[in-house]
Amino acid sequence: MSNPPPKIGIVSLGCPKALVDSERILTKLRAEGYEIAPSYEGADAVIVNTCGFLDSARQESLDAIGEALAENGRVIVTGCLGAESDLIRKTHPKVLSVTGPHQYEAVVSAVHEAVPPRHDPFIDLVPAQGIRLTPRHFAYLKISEGCNHACSFCIIPSMRGKLASRPAADVMVEAERLALAGVRELLVISQDTSAYGVDIRHAESAWRKRRVRAHMTDLCAALGDLGVWVRLHYVYPYPHVDEVIPLMADGKILPYLDIPFQHASPGVLKAMRRPANQERVLERIANWRRQVPDMTVRSTFIVGFPGETDDDFEFLLQWLDEADLDRVGCFKFEPVTGASANDLPGAVSDDVKEERWHRFMAAQQKISARRLKKKIGKTIDVLIDEVRPNEIIGRSKADAPEIDGIVKVKSKTPLRVGEIVKIKVTGATAYDLRGNTLS
Ligand code: SF4
Repeated sequence: MSNPPPKIGIVSLGCPKALVDSERILTKLRAEGYEIAPSYEGADAVIVNTCGFLDSARQESLDAIGEALAENGRVIVTGCLGAESDLIRKTHPKVLSVTGPHQYEAVVSAVHEAVPPRHDPFIDLVPAQGIRLTPRHFAYLKISEGCNHACSFCIIPSMRGKLASRPAADVMVEAERLALAGVRELLVISQDTSAYGVDIRHAESAWRKRRVRAHMTDLCAALGDLGVWVRLHYVYPYPHVDEVIPLMADGKILPYLDIPFQHASPGVLKAMRRPANQERVLERIANWRRQVPDMTVRSTFIVGFPGETDDDFEFLLQWLDEADLDRVGCFKFEPVTGASANDLPGAVSDDVKEERWHRFMAAQQKISARRLKKKIGKTIDVLIDEVRPNEIIGRSKADAPEIDGIVKVKSKTPLRVGEIVKIKVTGATAYDLRGNTLS
């Protein structure tokens, strides 16, 4: 009888991009015959994929490494905080290895060293679509790494490097495999989706007997042919974003844009060194909605940025009211070690940050409630995420998983996870909907 296969545990922290990195590492390990352990106890070693974006996330990562060391003892660290190897080794000298983000090969080598792979040439353990940590019916599709911008609050470019886009055919082959494996929704992610392909001069590559350019518009058109929901995240409002709106109007991709505006006041945006020009943004949103009336615009904002005055904040609130955004997240500015914004004058006190955050969220809650109320009586498509004994939870085209709202569904017939059903909306709260299936 052969030895039992070696088992590796993984703790994946941080954003969806880090989750995709974890999936790649697991896919590679699974291909080599490793098994994935669901708990510390059963694992021969544990990988901790860390996040280093905010100081609170860094602390969470350090704590997670400590927990894995205490529970298992054999710990391999990777991910964004891995770029700060000295800090990790000083805090946790017993870790077996430390690598930075996207160093898949180095992580896999560290696993080989800690727990040698079992050699079995007769097994092929990896399903065609790879190993995914998200539920089977939706998956993140990472189209590029890194970022060419230098927003003053962000250290991603120094951790993840300049923009590096995947060839369009690579992305399409992965997307097609996912669709064939039963995925109903693809969430396109990157640091800057609208910049996709700039670094490789929008090179063409061959997919399904056609040439696809590494450009957001062309990629969206090709993804739109797969027959699954395609949702765009982290889109900056460059002029060519207007080109994907007709694809939404035609139902090729979801009428959903996640655009991190971060602020509206020109002075604050300048201090943030944001890539996009805010001028005419309100006009453009209105124009998009004229073409696609059911379009959802989601965004994130930062309040309490250094130098943000009362006037800047009032300007932001007024802009928010005019923009009438559907989904909004808001963060209080937090100085991230290494970010140039930390040296800016005019630090905002914690009390003021808190007060602005509450006012911002209250304002947005009213907008969200008003917009959702308008959906009552309408028939919408809902993708079923969870079927519990007394409750069925789904999401509409307006809701990205984890970050947006949900739809509570009542149905006379049994529903399955991953199914897309039509429901009539019967009620709304500030963030969620409820409704009944039509049949
Ligand atoms: S666009 Fe700005 S916030 Fe986004 S990753 Fe690049 S530098 Fe960071």
